[in-house]
Amino acid sequence: MSDHDATLDDLYQEILLDHHRSPRREGLCPDCGLRAHRDNPLCGDEITLGLEVEGDTIAHVSQVGKGCAISRASASMMAEAIAGQPVRRAMELVETVRRMLRGEAPDEDGEDLEGLEDLGDLAALEGVARFPARIRCALLPWEALEEALARPL
Ligand code: ZN
Repeated sequence: MSDHDATLDDLYQEILLDHHRSPRREGLCPDCGLRAHRDNPLCGDEITLGLEVEGDTIAHVSQVGKGCAISRASASMMAEAIAGQPVRRAMELVETVRRMLRGEAPDEDGEDLEGLEDLGDLAALEGVARFPARIRCALLPWEALEEALARPL
């Protein structure tokens, strides 16, 4: 486990830890009828996502899950990022996060990735790209989002 220890400081950035400790929008709201469940057996992560979409806006977001800090923090950050946003924006964020996790994110200038300055806490996920084994953990909630939004309303 020593190689884990060596990278822990980088991986568990302050923002990730904060979301892990205080998950946002946790607990499924009864009106969030668009649901999706995903799991990542490699790590033991699970998420159930619930959305309420009004018109083309994501009116409510709720999520429950278990697993590692990365997956839980990612779910919490995602819930915050998409609440109140147009569905189209949420789908854009799925692609943006996917690119970030593939290591296609820009350096600190943020010029290569459109809209990075709007990402807020989500930008913390960029660091996960350096840890291939954890990318799946970070992506899990976003796959659930994609699935939930793909369902007919
Ligand atoms: Zn995990």
